[in-house]
Amino acid sequence: MILVTGGAGYIGSHAVLSLLKDNYEILIFDNLERGHIETVETLQKLGKVTFFKGDLRKADDLERVFKQYNIESVLHFAAFALVEESVKEPFKYYKNNVLGSVNLINIMLKNNVKNIVFSSSCATYGEPKYFPIDEKHPQKPINPYGEAKLEVEKILLEYDKLYGLKSVILRYFNVAGCDEYCRIGEWHEPETHLIPNILKCATNKEKIFKIYGDDYNTPDGTCIRDYVNVEDLADAHKLALEYLKKENKSDIFNLGTEKGNSVKEIFDICEKTVNSKVNREITHRRAGDPAILYADSAKAKKILGWKPNRTLEESIQRAFEWEKKMQTGNYIS
Ligand code: UDP
Repeated sequence: MILVTGGAGYIGSHAVLSLLKDNYEILIFDNLERGHIETVETLQKLGKVTFFKGDLRKADDLERVFKQYNIESVLHFAAFALVEESVKEPFKYYKNNVLGSVNLINIMLKNNVKNIVFSSSCATYGEPKYFPIDEKHPQKPINPYGEAKLEVEKILLEYDKLYGLKSVILRYFNVAGCDEYCRIGEWHEPETHLIPNILKCATNKEKIFKIYGDDYNTPDGTCIRDYVNVEDLADAHKLALEYLKKENKSDIFNLGTEKGNSVKEIFDICEKTVNSKVNREITHRRAGDPAILYADSAKAKKILGWKPNRTLEESIQRAFEWEKKMQTGNYIS
């Protein structure tokens, strides 16, 4: 069985879906603080998925899950993932994201489980010194979210040296879209992310979209990010698991499209893709946001054989369908 922490959340659930297509047997471990039971129930209809409600901060929960099930590898998504929240409540991030991860890997070792794929982030790089950002770029996070992810990366690499724990660290850039049949999708409460927020305005759920700052040092003044499709990103986890099994060594990969789009560009593409006009206003910068982030993913392409296949327009179209579905209140497919 593959243990997927945070499998009821956005990226974790799409990784489960990707693994189910190859008949993997999955055990989702999630405290449902930010993930959703409806997502788990949808996944359970699509393949062999067991659910364990547990919290990484409680070593007892982890002890029980490892005792009860035969776990061969771990995909570790469970984490708080909001940059601005991390600036306001850093301790919450260190406790859940760092201590929770340490609990997890200690219990893995105790049970002789030595393969883990870890969800890291481009937020570990901080303000970039050059573009595109490759894995060798210095890591100087500018917010506690990135700091906590970097800390876990370091611990994983230490545990390899000390105890032979093998990890593939995947540094995600921004993520967009959902399952091609809209069975699962991006479901955050409250929603803070760019594309869903624009689409909520496009469907009139919200009135006015706010751009967080147009005074950055970029061509149109708004922040530039690299938006990778969530299904493409999910597929990379399967490749990472296969890599761990085959190569039995730790490694680090950036996952992005290698193309940056500004907030204003994303806004225009959304309006065009869903054929709707959206009201917008410029407001203050959001704490913790670097101006520009986009990936060099050559290493993942070369070593994992990964390639992002879906376009930004496809991601936006999918996210739009999902947004409309969410608004009907019918979450279970
Ligand atoms: N953003 C924005 N308005 C919103 C949400 C996000 O202007 O309602 C901007 C945000 O400041 C950042 C970019 O869009 O520059 C991407 O933000 P998101 O929250 O989607 O992802 P993050 O970069 O924080 O992972």
